[in-house]
Amino acid sequence: MFGGETMLSSVRIRLTLWYSGAMALILLALACTTYFLLRQNVGRRVDAQAVELADAFLSTVNAEMGDATKPDSLDDGISAAISEHRFRDVTFAVFDPRGNLIGMSESAPDDHHHGPWRREEVLPVAKTLLADKEPFHFVRVSGRPYRGYVRTFSLENQEATLVVLQSLSHQTEFLRTLERTFWVVIPLTILLAGGGGYLLARRSLSPVVTMSAQASRIGSENLDARLSARNPKDELGQLAQSFNELLDRLSASFDRQKRFVADASHELRTPVAILCGETEVALAKAVRGEEEYRETLRILGDESKRLRHIVEDLFTLARADAGQYPLTYSDFYLDELAAECAKNVRSLASAKKIKVSCESTGEALIRADESLVRRMLLNLLDNAIKYTPAGGSIALRCGEHNGCYQVSVEDSGLGIPADLQPRIFERFFRADKARSRNEQDGSGAGLGLSIGAWIATAHSGALELTRSTEAGSLFTATLPKRPPPS
Ligand code: ADP
Repeated sequence: MFGGETMLSSVRIRLTLWYSGAMALILLALACTTYFLLRQNVGRRVDAQAVELADAFLSTVNAEMGDATKPDSLDDGISAAISEHRFRDVTFAVFDPRGNLIGMSESAPDDHHHGPWRREEVLPVAKTLLADKEPFHFVRVSGRPYRGYVRTFSLENQEATLVVLQSLSHQTEFLRTLERTFWVVIPLTILLAGGGGYLLARRSLSPVVTMSAQASRIGSENLDARLSARNPKDELGQLAQSFNELLDRLSASFDRQKRFVADASHELRTPVAILCGETEVALAKAVRGEEEYRETLRILGDESKRLRHIVEDLFTLARADAGQYPLTYSDFYLDELAAECAKNVRSLASAKKIKVSCESTGEALIRADESLVRRMLLNLLDNAIKYTPAGGSIALRCGEHNGCYQVSVEDSGLGIPADLQPRIFERFFRADKARSRNEQDGSGAGLGLSIGAWIATAHSGALELTRSTEAGSLFTATLPKRPPPS
C-alpha cells in the first residue's frame, strides 16, 4: 500500500524503526555478553573440576601405595583408584612414560544421551593428549565434545601420566538451549516492542494528524476557524496555540487589508462619480456657453487633483506595507526645511487669514529622507490650515529633545473630540467627514496622518498628537539625528 519513500516519510514508522533497531542492538549485545560470559564461566568450572578430580585420584593412588600394612605397586594403586573414582561423565586413564596404558576407567562415562561409551574410541583420543605439553585440551570422541586434562606425576620413583577426560555434553547442551532461547526470545521481544512502539507513536501523533487535517481546511474564506488541542498544556497544545495565534494575526491583517481595499474603493468612487456626472451634464445639451464649460472643467480639474492625491497616498501606503519604499538618506538642515514648508503654505493660509509662524532653537543638521520629511510636515501644516477657522494662527517649531530633533505644529483650531483622538492615525479615518469633504483644496481622504506616522516610524521616530482641546491641537514629530545602525 505504501511506497518505500512514503513509508519512511511517516514519523510513526521512523520512530518505530529507530526504537526497534535500538532495542535489537541492546538485546543482541546483552545476549552475546551473557552467552560468552557463561561459556567462559562453564569452561573455567570444568577445568577446576578436572584439577580437583586429578588431585583426588592421585591422592587415592598415593594412599593405596603408602598403606603400611599392605603396600601396593603403582599398578595396583592405580586400579584401586580407578575402581574408587567412578563418575558418570569422567574417564581416568594412566599411561607409563612410554605411552603404554597402565589402567583406565571401564564403564564410565555413561552418557545416555549420546550412546554408550566405547573403550576403543576413548583410548586413542586419550593417547593423543600425551604428546602435547599443554595440560588442557578440547577433544572429540565420536563427534562428542570432551575436555581433556593431562598431568604427569611420579610416585615411588616411577613416572606416569594421568589423563582425565570430562564429557562436555551437558554444558554444550546447556549453552545450545540458551542460544535457542535467545533466538526465540529476542525476535519476539523486538516484535512486541516494535508493535507497542508503533501503537504508542500512532496514539501520540494522532493529534498532529488531526491538527494537520484541520489546518489544511483553513483558507481565506474561513480564517476564523481554529485548531483544537486535546491538552492545551502539552507540547502539541502549545503548537496548536502558536498556530492559532498566527491565524489571529493573519486574520487581523487580512481584515485590515480588506477594509483598506473597501475604504480605498469607496474613496475613489466619489470623485469618479463626480467626474462622470459633470461630463454627462456638460454633454447633455448640444451647445453651452463658454462660462459653463469653464466651470465644468474647473470641477473636473479639482476632482482629478483630488483623485491623483488619493491614488498617490494609496500607492505610498501600499509600497510602505510591502516594505518596498526605500528611504533615500541625505544630510540637510531640518530647521531650514521647516521654514521652507511654512513659507510654502503661507499663501494657502493667508487666503483664510491664518498667520503661520516658524521658530527654531538652532541649526538642526539631520540625516533623513528629505522629501518624505517634507511630505510629513506639509501634511501637518495642511491639516492645521484645514481645521483652523479663519483668523487663527499656526506655529511651527523646531528643536532638540533627548538627543533627537522635534518638530511641532500647533494650531488654534477646533481640536479633535477626545473620544476620536486615539483613532486619527487610522487609515481613512476622518473625525468629521462632511467637513473635510467640503474643503476646497480637494484633499481629505483620511490618509495624511497615517502616511505622516509611517514616515516618522520609517525613520525610527514617532508622530504624536501631543494635545488637542477646543483651543487647538499640537502635533509633534520626533526624528533621530541619524538613522540608527541596522
Ligand atoms: P484628512 O485627509 O482628513 O486630513 P488626516 O489623516 O490628515 O486626513 O487626518 C485625519 C483626521 O484627523 C482628520 O479628518 C481630522 O478630523 C483630524 N485632524 C487632523 N489634523 C487636525 C488638526 N490640526 N485639527 C483638528 N483635526 C485634525
